[in-house]
Formats: sequence, structure tokens, C-alpha cells
Amino acid sequence: MVDLNKLVRENVKKLTPYSCARDEFNGKTGIFMDANENPYGNQNRYPDPYQKELKKEISKVKGIEEKKIFLGNGSDEIIDLCFRVFCNPGIDKALIFTPTYGMYQVSASVNDIEIVKIPLTGSFQIDIKKTEPFFSDKHLKLVFICSPNNPTANSMNYTDVEYIINKFNGIVVIDEAYIDFSEKPSFIKLVNKYPNLIIIQTFSKAFGLASVRVGMAFSDTAIIEYFNKVKPPYNISTINQKAVSGKIDQAEQFNRQVSRIKKERNRLSAILSKMNIIEKVYPSDANFLLVKVKNANYIYNELVKRNIIIRNRSNIVDNCLRITIGKKSENDQLIRELKSISI
Ligand SMILES: *Cc1c(COP(=O)(O)O)cnc(C)c1O
Repeated sequence: MVDLNKLVRENVKKLTPYSCARDEFNGKTGIFMDANENPYGNQNRYPDPYQKELKKEISKVKGIEEKKIFLGNGSDEIIDLCFRVFCNPGIDKALIFTPTYGMYQVSASVNDIEIVKIPLTGSFQIDIKKTEPFFSDKHLKLVFICSPNNPTANSMNYTDVEYIINKFNGIVVIDEAYIDFSEKPSFIKLVNKYPNLIIIQTFSKAFGLASVRVGMAFSDTAIIEYFNKVKPPYNISTINQKAVSGKIDQAEQFNRQVSRIKKERNRLSAILSKMNIIEKVYPSDANFLLVKVKNANYIYNELVKRNIIIRNRSNIVDNCLRITIGKKSENDQLIRELKSISI
């Protein structure tokens, strides 16, 4: 059984969180003389620290209770909070499956947490046999699973992931930044079943709101309460809360964009796989393609010269490039320029 009390850092359990003016009184009307705000202007008031209106909207669409939702200044703040709530610097560890999103390692390093890296298999799946022995390490607090995974673009096998949630007595974090581009189901409903699960989603990709910096976490209420205790009180500005408000249930507009991107992904994938300079296009459940080439550095530089910027991932996946799906005209331009490169 997972014992949250044993997982959370002692200092976090003991700390008295900052009590802001809006914690003590959160009515909407009145003469506000409690937060040392300037009485003039229209950006003069502090934001709602718990983003209640926004959570109401998200709760409806996702079918998850408001008290099981946390909003962060991007998913990156949520990743950092996982380390700060559960991992003692210099002592505890987190496990990741490589190659994967770079922020898990960076956030771990900032917090002085050792990262255990388990390479994904040849088909970019989790190697359960190699992973399981680490579960008995009492200092291992977090396992990060990115699905669909960045930069490999595939989803992890559902049964492997649920096996890990069941077997590991620590916290499992599933990063679903690309879930809206995938045909595979989200793991979100499992937060009602497992108290050690955190699902992360974001407004940065499918919702087209990367500049706004709002990430979502779904998990058991006890974990959300610790996140609320540790976060800076006003972590999401009023401007940013408003920018996201009303977007989550704009299903039609947003589905149109996502299906356009998916259609382009399939078209681009088919064209690229026929090109001589490309060895392999990996299957994608995301809004990008991972492609293997003969000389990644050369192709990357040639594209930069032609004013097309892709991501060179050859230092983490041998001779691989990551290409974000653009508009049709942009994808066409990429294809034209790739054809003009001779190797
Ligand atoms: C892009 C991305 C995110 C998004 O991070 P935000 O801080 O919400 O913009 C999260 N996880 C992965 C794996 C990503 O690729």
C-alpha cells in the first residue's frame, strides 16, 4: 500500500503555508483594504490563488472533481513541485525512461535529486524487467512516464503503465502533454482509483496557448493539498487565467485544429518515408514526427540555412530529427527544401 505520509518530505508536512489575504476572505464584493493593493486601475487586484472558475470549467470537461485539480504556471511548475513535495535534496531519487522530455532531469538537478535512467526498448517501450528492481529502493520517490513520449512520439503500453502504478509504492507521474493528438485513451480516470498517481496535461500544445503558461495536474486530493501548500500563492496571473477561460470547452474549434494537425502529420509522414535522405519515420501519437536520417547534423544545418528550424535530437536518439507539424503550407515548404538537399 502507498503511504503518502511516508512519501511527503517532513518539512513540507510541517510547514505552515503563506496565508494570503484572499485565503482569509474570498468574497467577490466589498471594499478591499486587506491586501495592500492600489485602489486604482483594472489590473490592481491579486488573482484568485486557487483559480476556482477555471477549475470549474476543467472539471466539467474532464469529469474530475475540482478538488482533484491543480493548475501550475505551465506543466514545468508542476514537475518542479513533484520534486519539492516528495524528494529530499541529496537523498531521494526519481526514475525516468530515456530518451524523454528534458525537464525531468533539469528539475531534478535544480532540486539536487539523483535521476535513475532506464532506456526504453528498441520499440521505445518500457522495459519492466529492468525497471522493477529499482522499486525496492526506499529513496526512489518518483517515476515519470511521458505518454505520448517526447521525442519518440509513441504512447506507452497501457498494461505496463498500470502495472507500474500497482507495483511501485511511490508516486507515478504521467505526463500527457500530447494526449489530445493520440487515439489511445488517457490515464486520467485512474486518479480516482490510485492515490499515488499524478496526471499532467497542458494548454501549451493542442490548445495553442503555449505563451499563456498554464498546466494541469489531476490526482488524489491529498496530493493536490500538498501542491497548494508549497506553490507560490499567486502562481497564475489573472490575465493568464482569463486567457485560458472558455477555451477548454471550445470543443469544436479545437477539435478542428487537432484533426487538421493529425491529418497533416499522416500526410507528412507518408511523404517523408518515401524520401531518399530519410531512413525511417517513427509512428506518432503526437503533433511531431521523429525521423531517422543518415546525417542528422548536416540536414539540420542545411534546413537552418533555408530558414526552417527543426529540432536536432541526434545527441539523445542516434541520427534523429524531431519535426513539429506545421500548417499545410509550412509542411509543403519543408518537403520542398528537404528535396533540395543532396547528400
Ligand atoms: C511541451 C511539453 C510540456 C509542456 O510544458 P508546459 O510547461 O505546460 O508548456 C510538458 N511535457 C512534455 C513532455 C512536453 O513535451
